Amino acid sequence: MMQATEAAGTAALSQIFGSNVFNDAIMRQTLPKQTYQALRRTIETGSILDPQVAEVVASAMKDWALSKGATHFTHWFQPMTGITAEKHDSFISPSSDGRIIMEFSGKELIKGEPDASSFPSGGLRATFEARGYTAWDCTSPAFVKDHSLYIPTAFCAYTGEALDKKTPLLRSMDALSRQAVRVLKLLGQDQVKRVTTTVGPEQEYFLIDKKYYDQRIDLIMTGRTLFGAKPPKGQDLEDHYFGQIKDRIAAFMSDLDHELWKMGVSAKTKHNEVAPAQHELAPIFNTTNIATDHNQLTMETMKKIALRHGLVCLLHEKPFAGVNGSGKHNNWSMSTDDGQNLLEPGKTPHENQQFLLFLSAVIQAVDEYADLLRISAASAGNDHRLGANEAPPAIISIFLGEQLTSILEQIEAGQIACCEAQSLLKLGTSSLPDLAKDSTDRNRTSPFAFTGNKFEFRMVGSSQSIAQCNFTLNTIVAEILSRYAEQLEGAKNVADVVNSLIKTAVKDHKRVIFNGNGYSDDWIIEAEKRGLPNIRTTVEAVAAIKSEKNKLLMETHHVLSRKEMDSRAEIQYEIYIKTINIEALTMIEMSRRQLLPAIISYRSQLAADIKVIQDIEQDTSVEKKLFASISEALKNFSQHLSELDQASEQASAMHSQETDKQAEAYRDQVVSAMNTLRADADELEMMIDRKYWPLPSYSAMLFNV
Ligand code: ADP
Ligand code: MG
Repeated sequence: MMQATEAAGTAALSQIFGSNVFNDAIMRQTLPKQTYQALRRTIETGSILDPQVAEVVASAMKDWALSKGATHFTHWFQPMTGITAEKHDSFISPSSDGRIIMEFSGKELIKGEPDASSFPSGGLRATFEARGYTAWDCTSPAFVKDHSLYIPTAFCAYTGEALDKKTPLLRSMDALSRQAVRVLKLLGQDQVKRVTTTVGPEQEYFLIDKKYYDQRIDLIMTGRTLFGAKPPKGQDLEDHYFGQIKDRIAAFMSDLDHELWKMGVSAKTKHNEVAPAQHELAPIFNTTNIATDHNQLTMETMKKIALRHGLVCLLHEKPFAGVNGSGKHNNWSMSTDDGQNLLEPGKTPHENQQFLLFLSAVIQAVDEYADLLRISAASAGNDHRLGANEAPPAIISIFLGEQLTSILEQIEAGQIACCEAQSLLKLGTSSLPDLAKDSTDRNRTSPFAFTGNKFEFRMVGSSQSIAQCNFTLNTIVAEILSRYAEQLEGAKNVADVVNSLIKTAVKDHKRVIFNGNGYSDDWIIEAEKRGLPNIRTTVEAVAAIKSEKNKLLMETHHVLSRKEMDSRAEIQYEIYIKTINIEALTMIEMSRRQLLPAIISYRSQLAADIKVIQDIEQDTSVEKKLFASISEALKNFSQHLSELDQASEQASAMHSQETDKQAEAYRDQVVSAMNTLRADADELEMMIDRKYWPLPSYSAMLFNV
């Protein structure tokens, strides 16, 4: 591991970066000019790719991949499991003289045929209907990893329905571009041909020593600890946040950066997070599609590199109770092909009608489709975070900051908006420079915060793909922009109409703007008064996918058909049910085979000790008191274990009923029985000689890295 670390330090970084990517520079070098230009056209404008062009690209790609040590190629796709899938074929092909040659055709580049029947389809496919296709996504560059050429692809059923996360994302990028270009044209920006959404996802994760991980069936099976008493110290002292990075962690981070850079992932910022053993990595933002692919790669690479250092990377949203869980901050903006960031307020935002119009569109979209954003960040794992006093609340609101809020209020009141000039921050000593003060302070508690020239959606869970939140954001904003475009088309005075659109948007949707503390109880009451939805669990959140309003939206913008929406609702329920079921079964197994025997052994030992002590001394009150407490707790534990067993059997037996009913049963009966059982076990852990407790403690896992 030292070798890799040193290599990262010595080799010129610019040579390492993207060295395993079939990127633009390599394409330009290796492809005939006409082929290169044709491919660029497809990448930039979505024009249809000529099969002959694909043939030439495939051949160049193969030669390049072979030079990088690849022996195989794989279509790389993102089925509804949330992780990526790959199936490798070697380049070899027999030649007439009995030897082999290396081959890779345009057809193999463009289309793959993995078996679709074993991936979640939510009823779109029956098990006997096996045919599925992967289609080359040339907007995300191919790369070499572990001796294979990886080709990013979309994945669909024989009938053409999307079975993956990438297809709706690509469709939504087109939808947003169409509507944004339309609006910009009406504002006089004729030169803009395409608008892309950009994303920089900050990724949180935990690292623990592998020797502890190996002893915890719960971590192995479910990714989170199902038992574990709170350590005397958690994150109380806040000494981990941005704290000095330990050597072992630093070596991991350095290796990780190196691996990611080779694959063209622009890992940029790394630091310790709030919880002990928690860290974060942020890349430089990219187009949404590439950012999504890169985030998947980042998660996979984190896991892989951690093992090299004797560590395990936990991406679960809540691996440890009592300390912060992990999320993903999805920084999102829109930019034009001539380099304008549409959410850049500039120095005088009050005069920037274009900015204010796009800002209004986002505000309106988030308010009208809060339920869709909520489901895009919902999962059994994330249910432990959202609304749990650490991560954003389950209520969607927008933080804008004082300056922008004030401008919008003035517009609503019909006044000419004005704003204060940027001020300097005096640090009170001549040796320090004066700092330019940002126009807004930060707000860490808002689920959807404006941060300078982008919005940061903070609800997403650390293990989730960012595809769903981004295709949702793209589509809901496209919808509002399309309504604005309709109003602007045929307007006599565009500026007046823009002003009235902003005014109406503020008037109708200011309820979603909230600059205060999103973690406070008062906000929950206030939000209810404002009529904002507070969707507490995944099971409730799925309703958003089934609502007529949202189906119409996705259908109108050609992002998802009604059938695809229905299938996705089914999949969300199924994944929820399976996740809780596995957790319950794991808890039952650990209780029966690890915890109960340990408690019983210790209790017997204590009984034997009491007998021995009694022979020499009459007073065994202390020992007996402990014995009585343990006996009482053991009785509860055993009782609650039977209850969990029963609840999980009942919920599991509901498989013939509607999945929403079954998911509700898991949430209401099974999850609560799990919580009760855990409380018993955690209490017992604190009563029993640690030598008897069969699981590594929270203190060991969180602090002994
Ligand atoms: P924070 O202070 O919120 O932790 P970071 O610097 O860690 O900020 O992360 C901010 C992220 O936002 C980075 O990934 C950065 O590249 C990204 N970002 C910056 N500008 C844009 C933009 N215009 N569109 C999308 N993402 C952006
Ligand atoms: Mg952030």
